[in-house]
Amino acid sequence: MNLLVQPKILEYADEDSSSKTWLTVSNSLKKEYGEETFKSWISKLNFVGCANGHINFTVPTRFIRDWIATHYEKRLLNLWRQHNSNVKKINITIESKSNSNFEILKPERVSVGTSISNESIITEHTNTNTSNLDRRFTFENFVVGKPNELAYAAAKAVADTDVVQAGSNPLFLYGGVGLGKTHLMHAIAWHIHKNNPNRKVAYLSAEKYMYQFVKALRSKDIMSFKEQFRSVDVLMVDDVQFICGKDSTQEEFFHTFNELIDNNRQIVISCDRSPSDLEDMEERIRSRLGWGLVADVHSTTYELRIGILQSKLDQMNISIPQNVIEFLAAKISSNVRELEGALNKVIAHSNLIGREVTLEVTKEILRDFLRSNERAVTIEDIQKKVAERFNVKVSDMSSPRRLRSISRPRQIAMYLAKSLTRRSLSEIGKKFGGKDHTTVMHAVKKVEELMSADIELGEDIRLLKRILEC
Ligand code: ADP
Ligand code: MG
Repeated sequence: MNLLVQPKILEYADEDSSSKTWLTVSNSLKKEYGEETFKSWISKLNFVGCANGHINFTVPTRFIRDWIATHYEKRLLNLWRQHNSNVKKINITIESKSNSNFEILKPERVSVGTSISNESIITEHTNTNTSNLDRRFTFENFVVGKPNELAYAAAKAVADTDVVQAGSNPLFLYGGVGLGKTHLMHAIAWHIHKNNPNRKVAYLSAEKYMYQFVKALRSKDIMSFKEQFRSVDVLMVDDVQFICGKDSTQEEFFHTFNELIDNNRQIVISCDRSPSDLEDMEERIRSRLGWGLVADVHSTTYELRIGILQSKLDQMNISIPQNVIEFLAAKISSNVRELEGALNKVIAHSNLIGREVTLEVTKEILRDFLRSNERAVTIEDIQKKVAERFNVKVSDMSSPRRLRSISRPRQIAMYLAKSLTRRSLSEIGKKFGGKDHTTVMHAVKKVEELMSADIELGEDIRLLKRILEC
């Protein structure tokens, strides 16, 4: 062959047959990968031509280019070589008209709105649009105590730095309902929004994520679904347990997750259980979720509940008697959401009826609310069950013996008496051999601390509680 062939003619001739080859190759790819993948990815390839053994394509965005390059390019090349063994390379470049959107890595200059539908997660949730974030959920309004100090510190660290630390990526926050996980996530978003407005933050619930994903599947537009996460610096997915058991969503979530992590973007996840307890989640995803920093939010202690009530009252600029605060903190130990609910109820009611908040008024207002907590459990029942469980004599419950093996069960019984009956601290004290109300108070605090520090003991006590409540 004459090496000095006129390139134009060569290209022309080449292009004609290569167009046909592209048609054949793309049909084979469609068969191999399926309609869906083809539509989402391969169909985005715009065939430009073939020159000097290079097949040239353009695509609208960098993301699509990278995706195709890593997933389909090799196969594409192999297929093409079956038709023309002279082909050496596939070139995929980004179409110039959308270059400005995605070539620029500085997030503040990325104009996401142009390539995403109105329903885009990003436009709804970026730091520039905070409509989905609760104004009150800030770090300032978060009361820190032993049960949540790790989660708080981790969230704060993520919010404070713009250099993603591999050790805390992803940040996995887990704990029971109403313990402040969502609050911490919103706080991260607010903090970054205020102090580092160049960073893009996307916060969404796992349900919203799934909804968007299913919608994208239906409209066969997975590509723009994925695209919306691309420019995000911090992605937060709340209540990730809802993604469990939904295979394709899991898979998709995992892709997005890996991609962002590989690109050094921060991920924050919340869940009602630890990564290893996500039974419906695939093993590899489960283990990957636990690679970063896993921080659990424990149940609140009496002390923390007092702090939270105080802080809420300060925020509302309202003061109520200390004994009411203590009553609420002692009675409503399930979670912070319920505690807040009870406090709001008391305040709203007393405003409405124009009566000052007193312990009596509070008890009256919360009568129904507390009825569910109030069982016909007696202190004697409690002492008996606790003695049984810890192998001590019932009489030891009212003895003055200070031996740990006896005093600990006694403290647990006092704690249970406080949380399961309506007896006051001094009434309880009396039933335990005439002890002082401060001794009971100390016991309640001690046991709450132990419960969050010692998981096994915590479980044990919760189980006792359930047995006694029946
Ligand atoms: P979760 O997401 O863990 O179910 P939320 O973050 O929704 O819980 O918290 C429930 C409510 O309790 C929210 O109103 C939140 O502000 C409040 N809350 C939880 N923990 C704290 C805390 N440590 N300090 C102040 N408010 C808290
Ligand atoms: Mg939540």
